[in-house]
Amino acid sequence: MILTAVRPTSVAENRDSGKGMLGTALTQLNSIFNLLDLNEGLRAIISQPERELTVAVPVRHDDGIVRVYTGFRVQHSSARGPCKGGIRYHPVVDLNEVRALALLMTLKCAVTNLPYGGAKGGISVDPTGLSDFELERLTRRYAAMIMPILGGKRDIPAPDINTNPRIMAWFMDTVSMIQGQLSPEVVTGKPIELGGSQGRIDATGRGVAISTVEMLRRLGSDPKDMRIAVQGYGNVGFYAANILAREYGCRIVGISDVSGGLYNPKGLPLTSLSDFVANNPGNFLESYMSNGHLDKISNEELLTLDVDVLIPAAIENQITVNNADRIQAKVLVEGANGPTTFEADVILQERGIHVVPDILANAGGVIVSYLEWVQDLQWFFLEASEVQTQLHDVMLRAFEEVWSVAESRQIDLRSAAYLLAVQRVGEAIDQRGIFP
Ligand code: NAD
Repeated sequence: MILTAVRPTSVAENRDSGKGMLGTALTQLNSIFNLLDLNEGLRAIISQPERELTVAVPVRHDDGIVRVYTGFRVQHSSARGPCKGGIRYHPVVDLNEVRALALLMTLKCAVTNLPYGGAKGGISVDPTGLSDFELERLTRRYAAMIMPILGGKRDIPAPDINTNPRIMAWFMDTVSMIQGQLSPEVVTGKPIELGGSQGRIDATGRGVAISTVEMLRRLGSDPKDMRIAVQGYGNVGFYAANILAREYGCRIVGISDVSGGLYNPKGLPLTSLSDFVANNPGNFLESYMSNGHLDKISNEELLTLDVDVLIPAAIENQITVNNADRIQAKVLVEGANGPTTFEADVILQERGIHVVPDILANAGGVIVSYLEWVQDLQWFFLEASEVQTQLHDVMLRAFEEVWSVAESRQIDLRSAAYLLAVQRVGEAIDQRGIFP
């Protein structure tokens, strides 16, 4: 298959407009509009969020002092179903980032053909500086503040960076207490005991592993021979690395987190590393006692390692014009949302590096979130094996559909995924018509 990057203008011309995640996503969207026969009205609708909410979140800290944090919830589209998207706690969260992530969610749900629109939320906060009680009060107040626009048929949050099943449990409990009824369908990624789904915790990492192996298969490469580096050892990176190693026999040679990375060209001791991470919550990889055969490397070094597959699974804007020329991997699978800037993407395509885009590669989480929501609405729960089968089937169907578009249009996989998604969202808006 010939992969040709869709580039509306030159890299230099896009340097300013492509700033930040929102710029990258909108630039890519515009380039796809030019390939599709979408009218101006539809383009305008898809280019901006339906609804945005900014809230003040006052929290009484353990020392008695009240501090006010800023929270957001952006609903990009409800054309194809209720809005769906995670909640992120991070110091650099701002409205533009949440807008970009909400747009990506609309596209992700459309490319996997889930009956959802897209949303995202977050609080600008460093949660590592909060006690458990402060974290709970922050979550409950934020949930109450955005509750007017949430609901199982309106908008359904889920975990993202620095949020987890426990936080989703507080979220669900807050909404249920205020509504006076148990409402498990209001949020996904909950603990199993509270209506969570089997297989949700590792779903995004498993989806990343499935799309990595599928990409390798289509390129004629045996996963067992592959050397893989993973940036980020949180929910996505941890499970992606472990599933690729244990279930597909890949060699994980590099991993990293915010504290830095570890490298061994012969393969990392993942079992011992995973035990360390599981038994020392809150500790970073830098405090892992090396057995003497591991090299400590920086995140920048990890991205440019001599590997076959690179999986950025940490945060956005990691592969930029500053390092795209030095990426040695032949395949890049985007576990994180928006890890590659628009300009870097063009460089990767020109260098013949195959990129499995975020809206396809990391869709495993929202696929199992969808299964969780369906189970909650029916009060009927699936076995782990059933969830895994469904996840596998939906991921592979989406991959095949994106691949077919890429082949028939002779375009790269990201452009193909965007094209398929925008087409589906456009059709839904068109068929519903414009109210009133
Ligand atoms: P997480 O908080 O569980 O883990 C994030 C990891 O990235 C941690 O290991 C952290 O130390 C590391 N990290 C943070 N800043 C870094 C930096 N500057 N350099 C290197 N590493 C850094 O988050 P997660 O849920 O694993 O999410 C990771 C990415 O995947 C995000 O982009 C998120 O939006 C995306 N994503 C997550 C899900 C999900 O279900 N959790 C689904 C789809 C996409």
